[in-house]
Amino acid sequence: MLFLDELPEFQRNVLEALREPLEAGRITISRAARQAEFPARFQLVAAMNPCPCGQRGNPRAACRCTPEAVLRYQGRISGPLADRLDLHVEVPAVPEAELVAPGAGEPSAVVAARVAEARARAVERQGKPNADLEPGEVERHCRASAAALERLQAVSAKLGWSARSFHRVLKIARSIADLSGEIDLTPAHVNEAVQYRRGLSLPA
Ligand SMILES: [Zn+2]
Repeated sequence: MLFLDELPEFQRNVLEALREPLEAGRITISRAARQAEFPARFQLVAAMNPCPCGQRGNPRAACRCTPEAVLRYQGRISGPLADRLDLHVEVPAVPEAELVAPGAGEPSAVVAARVAEARARAVERQGKPNADLEPGEVERHCRASAAALERLQAVSAKLGWSARSFHRVLKIARSIADLSGEIDLTPAHVNEAVQYRRGLSLPA
């Protein structure tokens, strides 16, 4: 796993160089007259603030950034790179009282077991995890109901998604269905998958 904290603080050319290994699972390094290819299949996790001061959207603190500064900051993540990040999750600031209270969530081991089961279901069905499905295989294994497809097409047209985004959302919906052990994709699965792409309305 590659974790990049403060994503917009990385040089743009460094971030753009990630596109090849993210897509192909390998990276080509060129030095003088020589070229070497290395395996580079990794899971990318990145974190960023909503604005340079980090307080935008926090009800308990004031953001001091101008709208231009916010746009410039978010714009450091290019559309094509954001497009390759499957899940965009907004994490609001947690009040101090909640931070010290005992967690009410599920233990990680329980979640990990559910994920392993969902992954096993995918591999049994199609011989590989959902993330590795080629476009033709997406059509075969991520079959959505007519209502679900209609919903996805409407969102895709509204947000101007690429074919890549469209297929990625179907694969995410497939994983959501696998997590609950369901065979067909329903509008609920598609809706949940779409929620994970909302952050993609980052300025171009
Ligand atoms: Zn701010």
